[in-house]
Amino acid sequence: MQVRSRLHTATHLLQQAMRNILGNDVHQAGSDITAERTRFDFTFPRKLTPEEIKKVEDEVNSIVAKDLPVQKAVMPKAEAEKTGALYYFREKYPDMVNVYYVGKTIEDAYSKEFCGGPHVTHTGEIGHFRILKEEAVGAGTRRIRATIDNA
Ligand SMILES: [Zn+2]
Repeated sequence: MQVRSRLHTATHLLQQAMRNILGNDVHQAGSDITAERTRFDFTFPRKLTPEEIKKVEDEVNSIVAKDLPVQKAVMPKAEAEKTGALYYFREKYPDMVNVYYVGKTIEDAYSKEFCGGPHVTHTGEIGHFRILKEEAVGAGTRRIRATIDNA
């Protein structure tokens, strides 16, 4: 499985874990994925504590361990919004959008996002997830660099 796909799915899990642990004020402000690491920019007013970083890592790794399916649904944008899937508020999307979700059904999915992919087919393919660094990149915006084993 492509490293970029593994890191991309890991980035979706990272965003959801952060929202679960730090609250829904966490919004993705950008992301960049290379063959070595993922970089995730997000809104948050302060530095994360080492305990919070550990909790986020542990939650992502618990979803990796569950080996949940990663699936895609294609649906009208209005319907996709109703599922609670995350998306960029500033981005213009077409009338029909792809929603990638992690779980057996879209209703009980751990994570759902408007996304073009590609992704792994099961979270177990990601491997162990590790946060390398967390830092400020501007007022109210922070950045996490993270990687996976064998990236
Ligand atoms: Zn995505």
